[in-house]
Amino acid sequence: MITAPTPMQDDITIAPFGTRFGAQLTSCEYRSGQWAAPQTAPLDTLALHPASHVLHYGSACFEGLKAYRWPDGSARLFRLDRHVARLQRSAELLSIPCPSEKTLIAMITTAVRENHAFVPAPPGSLYLRPTLIGTTWNIGAAGSPSEEALFFVLTSPVGNYFSCGERALRILIDEKNRRTPPGLGEAKTGGSYAAALHHTICAKMNHNADQVLFCPDGDVQETGASNFFLINDREILTKPLDSSFLHGVTRDSVLRLGEQLQYRTIEKDFTPGEILDWIERGGEAALSGTAAVMTSVGTFIYNNREIVVGDGRTGPNTRRLRDALLAIQHGASDDPFAWMSAI
Ligand SMILES: *Cc1c(COP(=O)(O)O)cnc(C)c1O
Repeated sequence: MITAPTPMQDDITIAPFGTRFGAQLTSCEYRSGQWAAPQTAPLDTLALHPASHVLHYGSACFEGLKAYRWPDGSARLFRLDRHVARLQRSAELLSIPCPSEKTLIAMITTAVRENHAFVPAPPGSLYLRPTLIGTTWNIGAAGSPSEEALFFVLTSPVGNYFSCGERALRILIDEKNRRTPPGLGEAKTGGSYAAALHHTICAKMNHNADQVLFCPDGDVQETGASNFFLINDREILTKPLDSSFLHGVTRDSVLRLGEQLQYRTIEKDFTPGEILDWIERGGEAALSGTAAVMTSVGTFIYNNREIVVGDGRTGPNTRRLRDALLAIQHGASDDPFAWMSAI
């Protein structure tokens, strides 16, 4: 058994994101055409046959969502229905057998309940990593789906993403490469991360960039792990949903919150040139995702030129939207959209 550390607040705030785990793992196996009853057991290593489909043909997808400890001591999940629907969509695109919506909701909720002691107080949260993999023993199954699967919900107490100080990012605008093959954009799958990694490492080495903004043929899509926004005092602009990129739950939440805060929300395709125009007119740029919520872009690197955004730090509108979202998540403000669910 893997020994889990006690959920000490100090320990969580200094541990790098994703390196601490809740003590219990909730899991479920698919065999002979059906899902067995879910189980919760002490977190341990997995035993996988070396011929497992996932190890050779990449049959894997996952989710990332958070549970928050509210002032009354209860734990609340953020937009569970959206994350469950997205996992089902990923599984469909990758042809992996997937538990029903009802089972997914029950298992994720159970995982939070069984690891309740590991849900940190604000600004921390319990990051959940529901994961689905193909486990059939068959290296001849390159052209067929895995007939067996494993679904598990790993939990990880995380501190404030910005505990080392908030820093606006350096982003390389890349018009040549794509993050994923067209058609896999909507799937949250390890294969796409593997494909984007080389470009990200090169951007780090050559430009000291934190991340790459993939804009194949001038279409601004997303970075390796987050969606992209242009923001100013009145407007919020982002790419409309299509099959080329991951439909972030944070992206949707920022748009809904933005409308409520009287921003005009615009979903339309745009180009790197329009990013530069937006910045020149004093606008902000930000990335969105569950882990960091919203992070400002401080500098773009484009055609070997560096363009500083505003004063190079977090923009006021980005901060305003992020704080409004965090307040809902932590139970510090009303929840007008009924995004938070009790467990
Ligand atoms: C997870 C992810 C996002 C952000 O999605 P959220 O639901 O907001 O966390 C954006 N892009 C990619 C590629 C992702 O994997």
